[in-house]
Amino acid sequence: MTATPASPRPLLNRRLAEFGTTIFAEMSALAVRTGAINLGQGFPDTDGPEAVREAAVRALRDGRGNQYPPGPGVPELRTAIAAHQERRYGTALDPDREVLVTAGATEAIAASLLALVEPGDEVVAFEPYYDSYAACIAMAGGTRVPVTLRPHEGSFRLDLDELRAAITPRTRLLLINTPHNPTGTVLTRAELTAIAELAVERDLLVVTDEVYEHLTYGDAVHVPLATLPGMRERTVTIGSAGKTFSFTGWKVGWVTASPELVGAVRSAKQFLTYVSSGPFQYAVAEALALPDAYFEGFRADMTAKRDLLAAGLTDAGFEVFRPQGTYFITTDIRPLGFDDGFAFCRALPERCGVVAVPNAVFYDDREAGAPFVRFAFCKKDDVLAQAVERLKGVAAA
Ligand SMILES: *Cc1c(COP(=O)(O)O)cnc(C)c1O
Repeated sequence: MTATPASPRPLLNRRLAEFGTTIFAEMSALAVRTGAINLGQGFPDTDGPEAVREAAVRALRDGRGNQYPPGPGVPELRTAIAAHQERRYGTALDPDREVLVTAGATEAIAASLLALVEPGDEVVAFEPYYDSYAACIAMAGGTRVPVTLRPHEGSFRLDLDELRAAITPRTRLLLINTPHNPTGTVLTRAELTAIAELAVERDLLVVTDEVYEHLTYGDAVHVPLATLPGMRERTVTIGSAGKTFSFTGWKVGWVTASPELVGAVRSAKQFLTYVSSGPFQYAVAEALALPDAYFEGFRADMTAKRDLLAAGLTDAGFEVFRPQGTYFITTDIRPLGFDDGFAFCRALPERCGVVAVPNAVFYDDREAGAPFVRFAFCKKDDVLAQAVERLKGVAAA
């Protein structure tokens, strides 16, 4: 390869310049090079239900979805998504006008922001945030306005006054995520009610990322924002099969919203991927109709994994923020004698043979995120047990 000639103009445009590299690539490469256990990236190391995998094989063999499926998604899946929302939350949706299938939640987020945000609009989002939010707001020409979730009595909480203060006449939408990655916080009905009242009072749109809706632990209950008074007509709800059914490679996600909002999001979506995941859409339709026992079993399984890793991290000396939801545990490394999550994570594979992710990458305010480190627990029990064993020496080393 020849070197790129020196140019006064960088190749990557200004909107994306700050998002040049992701920490996941660096950390996963480090895991491979050192043979470390990778608790960095959030993907399960076991596939989802066999029956769902077989449903995908059947669809593929029967020639369902091998050619471009319909733009909004195959009718079987849109019907299954509507039935799922009705069964779980009592929300009646028209599968033809109020449901849109996307290439994972990732595309749903991108299409929603590209459709609804005008250059110069402000988008208020919780920090730390899922890594695609900042980039998608930037691609849409919006300005992100972070509201920082702060540690409070063992979990990261939203300061409603801070949220209120972040809203200006230029605010177009609130980008919400509950259960929240990376902190594991599940917003309470009271917090969501306050958010809803604010959205109605200031006439804001809300995009809410609820991909972990089935992964809540203990007493935590997932309340969809769209079910609160005044929210149905201003909320875009995003879901995904990846996390719920442990098939993150299939990239089947969806949007549910009013016909007007779905229409707007579809306008952007049709020029991103147009359609995706044909045969998998049929399989996910079957997955969504699985009996409650599947969802309860999955939650019980993940609760046990959370408890295993949380106990191990606590024993190793971390301060553990016990998650109420998601795949992740956020820890504070200061009790171990460290305060820089970046340096800690870069050294951890050599020191202990484990990979984790510094939460600072999910913050604009890097200082606020500096001492926090995220571990994924969506892994086999023996893998988690081995990671716990390796982490025992972390403070001493
Ligand atoms: C994993 C994840 C996504 C992406 O979901 P896909 O369906 O794989 O695109 C979106 N939001 C959050 C918070 C996630 O953790």
